[in-house]
Amino acid sequence: MAKLYLYNSLTRKKEEFKPINKDKIGLYTCGPTVYNYAHIGNLRTYVFEDILKRVLKYNGYKVNHVMNITDVGHLTGDRDMGEDKLEVGSKREGKSAKKIADFYTKAFLNDLKKLNIEMPDKMPKATEYIKEQVEMIKTLEKKGFTYKTSDGIYFNTSKFKNYNKLSHLKLDELKEGARVEKNNEKRNPTDFALWKFSPRLRSGQVGRQQEWTSPWGVGFPGWHIECSAMSMKFLKGRLDIHCGGIDHINIHHTNEIAQSEAATGKKFFNYWLHGAFLNIAGGKKMAKSEENFLTLENALIKKGINPLVYRFAVLQTHYRKTMEYSEEAIGAAKKGLNHLYNQIKELRNKKGKINKEHEDKFLKVVNDDLNLPQALAKVQELLKSNLSNPDKFATVLRFDKILGLNLDTTSNKLELPENIFQLVNKREGARKEKNWEESDKLRIEIEKSGYLIEDTEDGMRIGKR
Ligand code: AMP
Ligand code: ZN
Repeated sequence: MAKLYLYNSLTRKKEEFKPINKDKIGLYTCGPTVYNYAHIGNLRTYVFEDILKRVLKYNGYKVNHVMNITDVGHLTGDRDMGEDKLEVGSKREGKSAKKIADFYTKAFLNDLKKLNIEMPDKMPKATEYIKEQVEMIKTLEKKGFTYKTSDGIYFNTSKFKNYNKLSHLKLDELKEGARVEKNNEKRNPTDFALWKFSPRLRSGQVGRQQEWTSPWGVGFPGWHIECSAMSMKFLKGRLDIHCGGIDHINIHHTNEIAQSEAATGKKFFNYWLHGAFLNIAGGKKMAKSEENFLTLENALIKKGINPLVYRFAVLQTHYRKTMEYSEEAIGAAKKGLNHLYNQIKELRNKKGKINKEHEDKFLKVVNDDLNLPQALAKVQELLKSNLSNPDKFATVLRFDKILGLNLDTTSNKLELPENIFQLVNKREGARKEKNWEESDKLRIEIEKSGYLIEDTEDGMRIGKR
């Protein structure tokens, strides 16, 4: 089998992947801040991480995947300034922070399902592991890495050697980046909050909804500490791979490494992988703080486009290259996926064999730092080869373990009228949850609208009556 190479942001090199324990790999991916819908930029990062996990599994590894849910502590400025995003969401919608978190967590899980992203094994919420975060801050305090200001307990970055080992920035550049947000009590511009005091502790100010007691007074944890505390709790001894978007390199992940290694004296994660941004046409990063933020719902589903078209579009760009969003690009991806579905529809057959030669070629590019654009080219090579249809089908279904494009249940779903498409998707959801009653109801509704749905051994087929 081809060796697996991954680009490690720590060393800035493609490295052969070597797990700590061969029996199971620990994978930690920074999860969403649940104060709003995920935008398709965020979702690009989650698709990249899903591909990584599927590739690890394809290579025979078992994976323990942990993704946190940030439901407290992430401020509007990544450097401890501004308001807690959950409190912002709560004010915006006039609901409690807890209600906001529950609602957007559900919406996020729904997006993952629609994009065929496999569920993490564990999704711990920051608010449920405050004790672990406080313990870690206590350790850092004992070891002399912290100091107190009027608004919280801070980590002293000048006490941690190689603070820049992930960002590779010079001290001057790091300071420059940090200087924008003024906090005169910080000893170094790069220092960051481990624990923030409740505004209530300062006279005349109102408190927050989410606060806890601690040895330092009532308050809430900083954003970075949750990922350190929860990854160590759930991946004990298996800190193999940690991922996120590139915006996490200079602050969030840099701070996670500093506080974790300061606390334990040991290396915190061997491989750091980062996905590049989705930009909106014109070169601007898609962000919730900008007006340019598109959800899966408004960019695709409302237009009657299967969300897997977005997954396909993501696969077409290497994860370390910037991806440009435009309606035209989505249109082209729709055409591309439709073409692939039509190619495969012709091949349906259960009795084929996986072709080793084609699989090796596919795996070689996939294992070369997740080169999915090349992998899609290998799919075309296979489909255009002179292998028998059953063998092509068996082989392409094997590839789909990584692609996750539902190649086994292809139909002409992409061309269905929007209402039928929605019903078909709903029915598939009901079937996945084994809700047969709901699924039968939906089938009847689909039939009444003039379409026939058929569940065959090879998957679902749909056509006009
Ligand atoms: P957040 O919910 O803001 O904490 O972000 C969730 C994930 O999306 C993180 O891994 C971010 O690095 C990533 N992310 C944020 N904006 C973009 C973007 N425009 N393109 C790709 N990934 C992004
Ligand atoms: Zn994180």
